[in-house]
Amino acid sequence: MLWRFLTFVACLLAGASLGAIALPERLFWQGACTGLLLSALVWFCLDLIRGLSVLHWLQLDGVKEVPVRWGLWGHVTDRIRRLLRQHDREKQAGAQRLQQFLSAIQASPNGVLLLDAEDRIEWCNEMAAQHLGIEIARDLAQLIGNLVRDPDFSAYLHRGQYETEVVIAGRDHRPNHPVRISLQMFPYGEGRRLLLTRDITAIEQSEAMRRDFVANVSHEIRTPLTVLAGFVETLQTLPLTALERDKYLGLMSQQAQRMQTLVQDLLTLSRLEGSPLPTHQEWVPALTLWQSCEAEGRALSAMLVPAEEAAHAMVFEADGLETCEVAGSRAELQSAMSNLVSNAIRYTPAGGRVHVAWHALPEGQVEFAVTDTGPGIAPEHIPRITERFYRVDRSRSRETGGTGLGLAIVKHVVQRHGGQLSIQSVLGQGSRFSFVLPADRVHQLQR
Ligand code: ADP
Repeated sequence: MLWRFLTFVACLLAGASLGAIALPERLFWQGACTGLLLSALVWFCLDLIRGLSVLHWLQLDGVKEVPVRWGLWGHVTDRIRRLLRQHDREKQAGAQRLQQFLSAIQASPNGVLLLDAEDRIEWCNEMAAQHLGIEIARDLAQLIGNLVRDPDFSAYLHRGQYETEVVIAGRDHRPNHPVRISLQMFPYGEGRRLLLTRDITAIEQSEAMRRDFVANVSHEIRTPLTVLAGFVETLQTLPLTALERDKYLGLMSQQAQRMQTLVQDLLTLSRLEGSPLPTHQEWVPALTLWQSCEAEGRALSAMLVPAEEAAHAMVFEADGLETCEVAGSRAELQSAMSNLVSNAIRYTPAGGRVHVAWHALPEGQVEFAVTDTGPGIAPEHIPRITERFYRVDRSRSRETGGTGLGLAIVKHVVQRHGGQLSIQSVLGQGSRFSFVLPADRVHQLQR
């Protein structure tokens, strides 16, 4: 500022001096005053030009050379240039933050959609577009009510009370492939709303499975309990002979045994679900597994086939058992093998054939397969047969002490060991249940 004042005064003095010198001595004061005024005018014009060039510079877009480098206007330009740079940096950082924020919302497993006060879509992420069947590029600024035509959602939108969520069928919903989407609005700003969408198909399915499971368990336990209570009452109220008492006690013991097996299978399943995967460190000799599976199978067949009927033809065929070890849980593998053999025996009528085999496969895996000449299973049942409590032949299952959990246990065990369960069956001819254990769980001992 001082510099500006000094240059102004210097300019005035120079002008006055020049004016005084230029005119004759008698016109000294007139000359000095005219010079003073003219120099002030020149100074003002130059200053105006510099100010205008700064103004013009400010109006230009993009990279531009600074018009004035010194004096007051130079300072102003410099200050403005710094402020502009700072503003650009802040703008860039803001845009970057917004981009990161939008990317985070894009990565969300839930859908996010913003509506303006007129129910028009302002923005939405990919997930919301997928849930609601919206095409982002085409449908921005469209009315949400025109795009999501579910009557429940329309009612929810018009009611204007958003404390609870509304559930609608998703875009890809089919009767055999349900897709359920939950929507909830959250008001913000001036009349604006945030719409959150969630795919709750899996939650609804697992909730339905849990309900079914509880209902099934209750049903399975209630039946033997009712029978037991009936027998207890009979024993308490009727005068029975010793023979009759023994008969009833035998039947009661059967029902108690049935409940015990059911509880055991339920505990096995819950252990399978809750415990860590079997390690590759514990090696179990295949021969041990095989021997106990054969002993159990033969004992079960002898128990189920009445003496007057032809026994099952049981064939146990294995190669390389003595040198083979498998990595995993002995108890789990034992239970999977026994369940398959027990099913084949229980569902194959007396006189039928049950063939149990253990083979090494060319790529180092081993296969355990049980083939029977039982009733076979219709193709429509096969995909569901490993579900808990799913039974094709309900009465045969109960008669032979089945719980409906055997194949669910086998499937779990095989999956936990990295293997694969296969089921082939021809109705009226028989079935083949097999599982393959992967090569990294199989070890052949050197002899
Ligand atoms: P369950 O205890 O009832 O045998 P599983 O889970 O072991 O329960 O088997 C489910 C259903 O699959 C059985 O109820 C039965 O209808 C059918 N099933 C299983 N194995 C065989 C088989 N070898 N032959 C025919 N049907 C079978």
